[in-house]
Parts: sequence; C-alpha cells; structure tokens
Amino acid sequence: KVRVRFAPSPTGPLHIGGVRTALFNYLFAKKHGGDFVLRIEDTDQNRYVEGAEQYIVEALKWCGIPYDEGIGKDGGFGPYRQSERKHLYRQYAEELVEKGRAYYAFDTPEALDAHRKDHEAKGKTFIYNWHNRLKLDNSLSMMPEAVEKRLNSGEDYVIRFMTPPDETVVLNDLVRGEIKIDTNTLDDKVLFKSDGMPTYHLANIVDDHLMQITHVIRGEEWLPSLPLHQQLYDAFEWQAPQFAHLPLIMKPTGKGKLSKRDGEKGGFPVFPLSWEDAVGYREAGYFPEAVVNFLAFLGWNPGTEQEVFLLQELVEAFSLDRVNKSGARFDPEKTKWYNHQWLQRKRDGELASLFATVLERQEIPHSVRDHNYVEKVVSLIKERADFVQDFWKLGDYFFVAPESYNEKAVKKQWKEGTPDIIKQVGEVLNGIGDFSSDNIEKQVKDWIAGQELAFGKVMPPLRLVIVGDMKGPHLFDIMALLGKEECLRRIEHALN
Ligand code: GLU
Repeated sequence: KVRVRFAPSPTGPLHIGGVRTALFNYLFAKKHGGDFVLRIEDTDQNRYVEGAEQYIVEALKWCGIPYDEGIGKDGGFGPYRQSERKHLYRQYAEELVEKGRAYYAFDTPEALDAHRKDHEAKGKTFIYNWHNRLKLDNSLSMMPEAVEKRLNSGEDYVIRFMTPPDETVVLNDLVRGEIKIDTNTLDDKVLFKSDGMPTYHLANIVDDHLMQITHVIRGEEWLPSLPLHQQLYDAFEWQAPQFAHLPLIMKPTGKGKLSKRDGEKGGFPVFPLSWEDAVGYREAGYFPEAVVNFLAFLGWNPGTEQEVFLLQELVEAFSLDRVNKSGARFDPEKTKWYNHQWLQRKRDGELASLFATVLERQEIPHSVRDHNYVEKVVSLIKERADFVQDFWKLGDYFFVAPESYNEKAVKKQWKEGTPDIIKQVGEVLNGIGDFSSDNIEKQVKDWIAGQELAFGKVMPPLRLVIVGDMKGPHLFDIMALLGKEECLRRIEHALN
C-alpha cells in the first residue's frame, strides 16, 4: 500500500513551497488509494516556534487537503511528533556504531571551526571524512576503553555516520532519474547528539522506515541529503522508499529561489501565524481551491490544455512522471487568474455572503443590502473581479449614490444640451411600469430613436449620472436593479 508523508518542521508558518509538497503527497496518495501521513519533525529545539504545529494542521485543513494519519489521528504508527519518539532513536544510532558504520566524535565546536578556517585559508573546503578523520578527536583514533571513559565522564559527543571512501552511491529519483555521487565529496554527517536528540537525518530515516513510508516526495532542497539517506538505508539493511524531489519554486523574475521575503510576489504564508506576517493567501482573498489549483501547476502539468482543476480532478490527473526537473517560476498574475477562475465558479449566494463582510466594513446599512439584492449585484459585477474585495470598487454605486462624478468623463460627456436630455430621460423612466432591464432598454431606445438623437449623446452621460463613472456592466441591468425611484433620485441629484 502506498504511504507518503508530509514532514514539516514547526519553525514558522507554512509557505507555498511547504503546501505544495503537502499537496503533491496528498495527490499521489489519493491517486494510488494510499495514506497521507502528517509527521512533525521537531527535533531541532532551537528552531521550534510556538504555535507552528497548530498552524500547519489548520493550513492543511483550510486548503482542503486532509491527512489520514498524524497529529490527533492515530493510524497505528504514532506518535507522530518526533519529540515524543525521542526514546526510539538512540538504539538505531548505536546499532550503526556496532556495525562499524558510525562512530563517536568529541570535537568541540571551536576545534571544528578552527579546522574549517584552516582549510578555507588554503582555499579548500573542510569535509569531515576519511581524509582527516584520524587527525580529529573521535573514537577511530582511540582505544575503546578511552572512548568508554570519555562517554562515562559525561563529555559531549556526537555520533557521526562513517562515509566509506572511494565509492559511488547510485541514487534513483523518480523526477531526476539516476544520480551518481562520489562518496569522497560527502561529509560524515552527525546522526545523534549527547543531549539525546537525533539529527534530522537519523530521525527522518528511522521514522520513514517505522512508518512504512513507500514514497518520499519533498522539495529539491533535500536532494543533497539523499546520498546520506540512501547510505543509511543500506547500512541498516532496510528497503529504501522511492524518492521524488520536486523542483524549486523560483522568484517571479525567474532568478533565484522564491523566499518569504518575496511577500506578495509569492512568499505569503497560507495565513499568518503572527502579526509580523499579517497577510497570507487567505487574508489576500484567495479561495483555497485557487491556491490548490495554482500550487498543482508549480512543477507539474497535466499535459493537456485544461488549467482549472477541482482537487478530485487533480487526484485523477496527477502523476510523478509529469513533474518537471527545472525550477517552477512563480507568476503572481497567473495566481490571480486562478482566483478569478474560481470566483466565477462560486455560487452568487456564497459570494454575496462573503461580500457582506466588506459591506459591513464600509458601513452600508442593512436596509440597502439584503442578501437577495447583494446576490444580484454580485452576478452583475463578478465577471471583472479577481477577489471578493474587488466587488466594492466595481460596484460601490449599487450601495451609495454618486456624490461626485469622474471629472475627466464629465468634461468629455457633459455637453451643453446634456441636462435637458437627461431630464427628458428621467421623464421617460418615470412613465415606465415594468422596470425590467429589457423593458427600460426598449423604452429608452425607442425614445432616443424618436428624438433622432445619437446614442452617444444619451447613454454615456446617463451612465455618469447613475454610476458616477464610466465603469460598470450593462447600464440597463444596473438601472433595473437600482429600481425606478433610485434612478430618478440620481438624475435629480445630478441636475441640481
Ligand atoms: N523536516 C523536513 C522539512 O522541514 C522534512 C524533509 C523531508 O521530507 O525529508 O522539510
């Protein structure tokens, strides 16, 4: 059975890179009838951020990509927080020491730093492996009794993986294909520390093994860790999962990796964890469907023309074969386009309810914004909107009569004879019984034809009077919705 996991570290709010990883895991799991596991990798206490775990859980919920197993949802492989699995890891680190695949090291941070600087001065990089192992302060140059003694005396130590010299690690990535790495370029990475905590590498491998993860799908930034991970699986004599590394998400300029400093250019979190990042995709007015939709296209495409996908459709269309190797450029305009598409697909009633909170903020009295009316307004203006917030700018005149008129338009449209024409249009409107859009249109147009007037002399100034500007949908639709009395009031106001 396919089992995948999303394994974030609770170091802050989820940004789109993280959510994309979660999404691709989810899609892959559901496509194959498998399980999607959420595991919290909180072994690094220095980077732990209060509330981040809750945030991650809620962000996934908001996106509509639920996990089958994880925090608060036991599936028999828990606990799902690495800090609660702390007792598990030491035995695995020790197992590798016994197998001769790892060793104790007592180097102080200062000594390592000195080595590093020493190498840098000679223009070399310091790699901790067979090149220099024997010159460093570790168990490989000591008698076992001496090691024992130092351990017993409570001295700080780490357990490092022992990278074999002169070997080639052959990696297989479902996205990148075969990758070969020369072990001479690899560091002896730390697996375990004397404070009893495993490092990411050890905990990650042990947990993926114990949780029976079949596919590891994660961001490309983890690709450099893969040689070590593969060697760890081999050292434990465990079957390694299959790996798929997702392409980096690039800045809108295409240059460099997208970062949270890119803010509204793609670096928003899903929603804010703190006041420091008070805007997220949710706050910016994105629909979860749109976020999921644009994320799916960051590094994947269905190979067809279809761009708008429901989550369920994504599940059906998804395959790792269609994940690209090259970086995926984040395009803020396209992202808005997705929201626009999803907005058009929402029911007017739902949009009206969302718009109501904007109207509330604008202090529009309830008497002029009953749900039915707002729903009709929405149906007229939504075509031009990317976000619910746009409704106000697009349709404020449905709720407040224009106080002033667009000056440029006035100059252009308001001629000497205009007041008289508008006055007469008012009279025509006053005489209309059935104030439906079609009927107003017919009556006004008949009148214009009868007067042998040019449309351009009537319609633009009439729009100015009703809307205050040249914007908006079909004018007769607007007028029908505003109603006869309101239209007459606006005409009167404009003429006085
Ligand atoms: N804890 C790692 C992270 O924060 C997980 C990497 C992985 O999926 O192996 O992204």
